[in-house]
Amino acid sequence: MLCWLNDRIIEAEEARISPFDRGFLFGDGIYEVVQYFNRVGVGLDLHIERMNKSLARTAITGFDPASMHAIAATLLEASHLHDALMYLQVTRGTQIPRAHLPKPGVPPTVFGYAIAGPSLAELERPRTINAMLLPDDRWRRCAIKSTSLIANVLAALEGDRHGAQEVILHRDGLLTEGSMTNVFIVLDGGLVTPPIDTEPSILAGVTRALLIETARAAGMTIQERPIQVAELDRADEVFVASTRRLIDAVIGIDGRTIGSGSAGSLTVQLFERLRVRIADNCGCSLHSLA
Ligand code: PLP
Repeated sequence: MLCWLNDRIIEAEEARISPFDRGFLFGDGIYEVVQYFNRVGVGLDLHIERMNKSLARTAITGFDPASMHAIAATLLEASHLHDALMYLQVTRGTQIPRAHLPKPGVPPTVFGYAIAGPSLAELERPRTINAMLLPDDRWRRCAIKSTSLIANVLAALEGDRHGAQEVILHRDGLLTEGSMTNVFIVLDGGLVTPPIDTEPSILAGVTRALLIETARAAGMTIQERPIQVAELDRADEVFVASTRRLIDAVIGIDGRTIGSGSAGSLTVQLFERLRVRIADNCGCSLHSLA
């Protein structure tokens, strides 16, 4: 596998970063994950905008997220990939000796790589998953796509121990998001998802934004508002959204069946509309040729 490290394409096995890199020492970095179909990034402008915000909010300087276009093009070409997931990570760079207070003028470490992803045709229908609920004990600045993900990792581990493929988090009685996804529910025939840019904070998911636009364009009712944990008991459908999976239908939470125990009709409709939209934007087929 090839990777991008500080302006160079190299073999992944040859990539070296100092142990004094602030990403390693402090988790002092931010990242993006972009899905490519047919070498076109899904919601790429939104990823660039979010990376700009993450960099501004963390005061990490020296990297222009607009270069994501060129980095991805180089990585996909060099790796001979068309359908791929690209990871791009920017840390506050290497500083010796270790100090909490960053030294000014240190160049960031920029690291990226691409792995083969599914084609849009292969993402035929939403995967069905089980979830569990856990208190959201992450820090309060979840709008930053930070590489400091230990709380998310611990939540995912706890979920795995209980046979759950995603953990839905809650804080102050309100649903926030999944450990690696945004959450949507269907209530009284309409879609509801927690708001961004308010408390409790969540990540402004790119897939979340694309789904809201897609739902509105299709005339579906969708509300961005706080969701009480207790409202889950009345939800007819629950799904989680992310770049990597688009939509996963949640069919059980903590052992309780949601709806009919299979992907609900609004979930499937929205998934299909998102696929059509992505196929149009990326110029790719919805159906496998085989
Ligand atoms: N929320 C969290 C905590 C995440 O880690 C992710 C994705 O990694 C998301 C939401 C979904 O964001 P996106 O749709 O941009 O992948």
